[in-house]
Amino acid sequence: MAPSLTFPEGFLWGVSTSAFQIEGALRADGRGPSIWDRFTAEPGRIRDGHTADVACDSYRRVDEDVALLAGLGVSAYRFSIAWPRVQPAGHGPVNPAGLDHYDRLVDALAAHGIEAVPTLYHWDLPQELEDRGGWLDRDTAYRFGEYAYIVAERLGDRVRRWITVNEPFVHMAYGYALGLHAPGRTLLLDALPTAHHQLLGHGLAAMSVRGRGAREVLIANNHTPVSAAGPEDAAAARAYDALHNRLFTDPLLLREYPDLSAYGIAEMPGVRDGDLAVIGTPPDAIGVNYYMPTRVRAATGPLPFELVEAHTGPTTAFGWPVAPEALGALLDGMRERYGPLLPPLYITENGCSYPDEPGPDGTVADADRIAYLSRHIAALAEAAGRGADVRGYFVWSLLDNFEWAEGYHQRFGLVRVEPDGTRTPKASYGWYRDLIAAQRARAEQW
Ligand code: BGC
Repeated sequence: MAPSLTFPEGFLWGVSTSAFQIEGALRADGRGPSIWDRFTAEPGRIRDGHTADVACDSYRRVDEDVALLAGLGVSAYRFSIAWPRVQPAGHGPVNPAGLDHYDRLVDALAAHGIEAVPTLYHWDLPQELEDRGGWLDRDTAYRFGEYAYIVAERLGDRVRRWITVNEPFVHMAYGYALGLHAPGRTLLLDALPTAHHQLLGHGLAAMSVRGRGAREVLIANNHTPVSAAGPEDAAAARAYDALHNRLFTDPLLLREYPDLSAYGIAEMPGVRDGDLAVIGTPPDAIGVNYYMPTRVRAATGPLPFELVEAHTGPTTAFGWPVAPEALGALLDGMRERYGPLLPPLYITENGCSYPDEPGPDGTVADADRIAYLSRHIAALAEAAGRGADVRGYFVWSLLDNFEWAEGYHQRFGLVRVEPDGTRTPKASYGWYRDLIAAQRARAEQW
């Protein structure tokens, strides 16, 4: 616990999950297939052939998960809504049973005083839309706006904060450019239209939920501070920063795409008149998913950069550098770049994977996760002290879950999940619970 941390009144302490990673029950109650159902079924795509057919079984164990959230004392829960449960083909008929599930979840959270913060899209595109072109096709953005309207019609009387799209950069890069995630396309720079269409989808979905009473709408992108390996790599660092960070924030805040000339691209493909006004309707807040910084050097190939592993400090089980100071640098850099145009920020994901094996007494002493989280939260408090307007922090993740191409090999949870679904809160769960309680007590004293 770090009693000296200072966060503003009303600061949200939360945890995050996503539908495909935790729910299982992929064929229950009329859910349609998604691109991740298809991808996980393809041999060789997922480490050791793991699938998300059961995952954490959270679709069925929703009460158990809500009890865990209540025990933690979080003020908010960020979960995602599975588009293929709500609209199995991604267009046309609505599946009321899918909506009922999230309706019950929102009510169950409210009964414990926990705010529901749903993400409308966390990568599980209905397969039928992918068959029509997926995010390469402009029409998907309109279908997304329509789906957002359907969800907001049902939940908008209780949900005040919405997240539209999760990590459009990762979805574009891993899903459409490199083929490491669903839908497994390897288009390299030809994947760029998926960035524009996801952003357009964000803008259209924001309109839909605002029309149903939303108080705050945000998009959650993956942000990374980028540095150059050496002085001769500065242009490569700028090019990478443009692709990973600016491509997904400049259109929202500046109503323009960054300079992509380092990629031989004169103009962002797919943009039509009026799109940037839809995308750039000033966002109420921005969601920052932060995991690690990136170092690059110049390269001559299809891309003008390559990623360099230069970190000498500790890493997580994924091999990701543990760099809390880079979170501070990231937030300082965003303020510098966007000045008064930068809206309030939420850290919508931050967390780490470690092996987390139980000891002989069955408890999981994940001291490395506690150290990771406490250092990042301290860095956040320092950044707030320097002027960053941060309104909330969400740990990724509540549960050990299906970590995409890594299957169940990377454990990010505050709670361990066994293959039979048994949940065991780790030491970090108790630590986070105490931190939240202490922060709340401080806030009440004032
Ligand atoms: C994603 C999560 C993922 C986490 C850890 C983020 O990229 O939004 O779905 O599990 O990072 O890799």
